[in-house]
Amino acid sequence: MCTPKKDGGLGFRDLKTFNLALLSKQGCRIYTNTHSLVHRVFKARYFMNGDFLHAELGRQPSYAWRSIMAAKHIVHAGHRWQVGDGTTVRIWKDRWIPKPSTFCPISQQNTLPLESTISELIDEDTGEWNATLIKQIFIPDEARTILSMPRSHRRANDRIIWAYTPKGNFTVNSAYKVAWAISPSVAMDEVSNPYAKRQFWRTIWNLDIPNKLKTFTWKACRDILPTKSNLCHRGVLDNATCETCGLTAEISGHLFWDCIGAREVWTATGIAFDTNGVHFSEFVDFLWYLLFVQRMDLKLIELTITVAWCMWYNRNKTRLGSPRQTSHEIIHKARSILEDFQLAHLARPCLKDQTDARWSPPSHPWYKVNTDAAVFSNLQTIGIGVIIRDHEGSVIATLSQHLLLPLGPLEAETKALDVAASFAWDMGIRDVVFETDSKVVSDALCGTINPQVSIEDVI
Ligand SMILES: [Zn+2]
Repeated sequence: MCTPKKDGGLGFRDLKTFNLALLSKQGCRIYTNTHSLVHRVFKARYFMNGDFLHAELGRQPSYAWRSIMAAKHIVHAGHRWQVGDGTTVRIWKDRWIPKPSTFCPISQQNTLPLESTISELIDEDTGEWNATLIKQIFIPDEARTILSMPRSHRRANDRIIWAYTPKGNFTVNSAYKVAWAISPSVAMDEVSNPYAKRQFWRTIWNLDIPNKLKTFTWKACRDILPTKSNLCHRGVLDNATCETCGLTAEISGHLFWDCIGAREVWTATGIAFDTNGVHFSEFVDFLWYLLFVQRMDLKLIELTITVAWCMWYNRNKTRLGSPRQTSHEIIHKARSILEDFQLAHLARPCLKDQTDARWSPPSHPWYKVNTDAAVFSNLQTIGIGVIIRDHEGSVIATLSQHLLLPLGPLEAETKALDVAASFAWDMGIRDVVFETDSKVVSDALCGTINPQVSIEDVI
């Protein structure tokens, strides 16, 4: 009955878990609000020489403390660091990479010592990530995630945030989901974990790929594609052998991963699959592994699915007598499908304020700085444009930059503004009006909304 409605249950909250989520709210306050009276009171008695996460129950604990400690694991699971200047966050030991559920690097600790802090990954002069070093140290997927966290010229402090809401603020609802996902009975069997399952499907349905590819993924994951093995089960065929290798039955795991034909294609994509010796009997296991174990970047998941669809398309055409496509033809086709689709969807209307498109000059003696950004997700880069004009509309200065940063649209617009502010300052221009076509960025700057945590420091 506690199973959420989406997963076929009645959606009653599990009261014990809900109670823990409520208690974790107190724990979060004690953990993050270090200036509060309640923090000081508990610290003096229970965790004199550490923080809340390292506190012990102690001797003769109070009822309140005992209750709060029961939810400590939720506080631990729900938090991560938001990196500012990086001086207090340790690269290999702390939770700081914005990827659930560990938030820790999966790359092997190598050149940098175990106690190194993130400030060692930041260029001291510019305040930007040291991209060369990061690409040397981390696996490509993780390096991309790190580089996609925009840096601010303002050296903010590192701080602890709640990791499961976009703005980094604690909510009981999100804590309930965390509590549910990490409760022992659920964690025992990840695949039967409805929260993870739902997260899996939500991720798939939200991918930036054509709908027919989502439907294909759904069918492949439910194992209802007409593979030879499935057709045998239905009595349509009596031989399930894979036609590419002739070695074994054509089940979805073989078709899309194990088969020599599939392996050739995956090798040619250059995607770094972290799957040494892993065998997948079904397509869903393959995708699940990429999403939740390897924690692959969603852009690569989109490419992987599109390539899988092209393999399936090629396999069907071949069965009807068409010549088999080479790996490179399959990959080329997949990349074109994705690029065409994503280019058409590049302009996200929610980020643009379309109510007023006319430019107007600032009043004397002000200057107006307009910024814009474009995201080239396939190239993992962004383009930034800045133009400074005076009260007569005359162009005073322009700047355009191509930055090797894999930012999202919102982060890119924010980055453009950050670059524009430095640019105007360097030009000696002080009386400035900034104009951006991102309503979210503009509202965040005006203070009418709280920005998402990914852009908060830059704002
Ligand atoms: Zn085969």
